[in-house]
Amino acid sequence: MSNPCGGSGGGNRRHFLKAAAVTGAAAAALSPEALLAADAFPTITLGKTGTKVTRLGMGTSWTVQPSFVQTAIAAGVTYIDTAEGYEKGNSEKTIGEVLERTKKRKEVFLVTKNSSYRNAKGERALEVFEGPLNKSLERLRTDYTDAYYIHGISGEQIPMLFDKGVKAAFEAMKKSGKIKFAGLSCHDKGLVQVVEAAAECGWLDQIMIQFNYRTMDIDSVKRAVDMASKAKLGLVAMKTQGGAGSFQEKSDSPRFKEFVQKGFKKEQAAIKSVFADERFHVVVSEMTNRDMLRDNMAATREPLDKKAALLLEEHKQKTAHLYCHGCGHLCETAAKGVPVATVLRYLRYYSVYGKRAEARALYQALPAEARDLAAADLAAAEKACPHGLPVVELIGRADRYMS
Ligand code: SF4
Repeated sequence: MSNPCGGSGGGNRRHFLKAAAVTGAAAAALSPEALLAADAFPTITLGKTGTKVTRLGMGTSWTVQPSFVQTAIAAGVTYIDTAEGYEKGNSEKTIGEVLERTKKRKEVFLVTKNSSYRNAKGERALEVFEGPLNKSLERLRTDYTDAYYIHGISGEQIPMLFDKGVKAAFEAMKKSGKIKFAGLSCHDKGLVQVVEAAAECGWLDQIMIQFNYRTMDIDSVKRAVDMASKAKLGLVAMKTQGGAGSFQEKSDSPRFKEFVQKGFKKEQAAIKSVFADERFHVVVSEMTNRDMLRDNMAATREPLDKKAALLLEEHKQKTAHLYCHGCGHLCETAAKGVPVATVLRYLRYYSVYGKRAEARALYQALPAEARDLAAADLAAAEKACPHGLPVVELIGRADRYMS
């Protein structure tokens, strides 16, 4: 397994070695501040941006408490990812309030995203992107964002990346000083094609994509990530848990118990497996409390050992039929109206991440036809799924939990 702290410059290597004494159960017992005091928080140069950032980033798509944001920054996590749509703008407001009060704005690499770009093209593009950006900057109480993303772009929207007006809009926002870098995020079924297009279009600086131990070995994903890496894009991973929460359900083997007793945590194993891929610079994790922060910080410092890697692989094999890969193009035509991949993503938020209220709100915001199970043909969708997911049962469960 490669060094997960393989950032640029010898400093990281030195820090990694110094951190060797602060690993495993010992690290897990320390507070975020104590881990910081170990002087070993890994940083890396974020691809072509040339900017030094922390390998661990903070995701803020759920309700974020100001005190926790402050703790994470004080502990050394200075990469923060937010979006205009997170908590209807409240995430941006919270972050803005904390950064202003603590005077930490310049120490943080701040990313925000625009979701309202559906008709962005040609001369209208600047207005489409800059209007929402101005509002984000107001909520964030800053006059610039380090990176500004096209948020959640889908395979169908790839032509936008080659539209001269869109490229010019981002260049104009850079020139005005309102953004430093341009990017996109994607966890769509067309992820591979989006990543390839991002590498080819030539004007993006960084991308954030779904990437985890369940998807990293898929050939098409590997090729696309290689292209992005060769194009020197800053690579940021999200949704790195791969539904690892279901690990608990498989915790009855003696081997698993032995690992847990030694301080093994499924969430740390999942995040370490991504840190081990040196093409990725940052992992954005949805941390909401000090325990998660401490565990992630510890995971950032030490590699996934061989035994834990084997356990993770075993879990992946055993639960492959329970993980939706998001390849909705394979089953959604058969499903006749139900966006299976999206609904199963919300079910993951509900069941695995424990974000029940947020998942319910997302599900209930889907159009009525997307929740009309009587009109859908879920049996046909189940038949079409090459991964053997029990689509009928899972969508039924999603509807029961989140309606
Ligand atoms: S249910 Fe199966 S085919 Fe449909 S998106 Fe999920 S993994 Fe892909």
